Amino acid sequence: MLEKLIPAKADPILGLGKLFAADARENKIDLGVGVYKDADGKTPIMTAVKKAEVRLHAEQTSKSYKALAGDEVFRDEMRKLVLGDAVAADRVATLQAPGGTGALHQLFEAMKLLNPDATIWVSNPSWPSHVAMAKHLGFKTENYDYFDPATSGVDFNGLMVSLQGMQAGDMLVLHGCCHNPTGANLTANQWQSITDLVLEKNVMPLVDIAYQGFGDGLQEDAIYMRTMASRMPEMMVAASCSKNFGLYRDRVGCAMVIAKDADSATVTQGNLATLNRMNYSFAPDHGAALVAIILSDSELRAEWEAELEEMRLAMLTVREDLAEALRQQCNSDHFDFIKDHRGMFSRLGLSPEQVEMLRVDHGMYVVGDSRINVPGLSGGRVAPFAKAVSMVAN
Ligand code: PMP
Repeated sequence: MLEKLIPAKADPILGLGKLFAADARENKIDLGVGVYKDADGKTPIMTAVKKAEVRLHAEQTSKSYKALAGDEVFRDEMRKLVLGDAVAADRVATLQAPGGTGALHQLFEAMKLLNPDATIWVSNPSWPSHVAMAKHLGFKTENYDYFDPATSGVDFNGLMVSLQGMQAGDMLVLHGCCHNPTGANLTANQWQSITDLVLEKNVMPLVDIAYQGFGDGLQEDAIYMRTMASRMPEMMVAASCSKNFGLYRDRVGCAMVIAKDADSATVTQGNLATLNRMNYSFAPDHGAALVAIILSDSELRAEWEAELEEMRLAMLTVREDLAEALRQQCNSDHFDFIKDHRGMFSRLGLSPEQVEMLRVDHGMYVVGDSRINVPGLSGGRVAPFAKAVSMVAN
């Protein structure tokens, strides 16, 4: 039967990583895969995570199963971290999931129970797994305009025009902050207008928040989404702990469903637990246990917040430095948008040919749509990169 399989498409970003590894040039720079890197180019384990691991090792007495929906302390702390007090706790059903991807998957599954005929609306461009997963689960998908290449900002008029096509019962996927891959983000007013439209059209919003704390701050990054949540009778949120806790491979995420009242939330909660059972039963525990320890201990939490803030500021410094270096190199303010963007990524607006030249001629590995992983430039890598960009862009 296996002859029916056609070769799977290689992941372009992972493919770029392989090319990078095989490149013998000493001054090569990897700006591909979206992981935080410090000045030494390492993706560190956060100190609060290390300490929580020591504590977990000492205190954990069993590896037996926990609740199907996941650890209660983890889920409640995640609800507070993401939603603050925007929505009453008894209106929110939560589910521990394997990473942000797992949370999104479970929420798409939940959407299948609500309306299998829904069209899932995804920004153009977006993180590719949004469309891929929605399609894999049998949904129709539509793109909405998002990025304006002329300004490297959000094309809000285009966005609102596209979203007029949404039908009642559809789902709208929004990036909570730090848009991947563009780095361009919606303003407070734009979030309000989208919320008005979603309410008018009776659409289910799904906010994907994978970079809370990487943009304007831990609370600031959640504010617009929280305002939306406070106005919505129903809404879904997928949170990832991969980036802000550096727990990438431990697979920690949390799916949240806001229901119109406590009774509806109780029914939803049971359904979410069943969805875990249907897919993989229990979500991995280790990383979620670390997050629960950190968020419920004031000292560890303060340490985590301080380190996260340090990472955020390091990315902002790279943005400032890169914009300035490109100003000097190109003698133009064309790339100033880099310092207005937020999060791990910026789309530079280079052509595929220019991206190829960066790789072949200069050993600079940038994703094909000209997305750069901003922290990959810390540790003195801004200057050589800016020079290479100015050479291919001119
Ligand atoms: N959403 C977005 C927009 C992302 O960029 C990512 C990570 N690349 C995720 C969700 C999920 O990440 P993970 O499954 O590793 O938590």
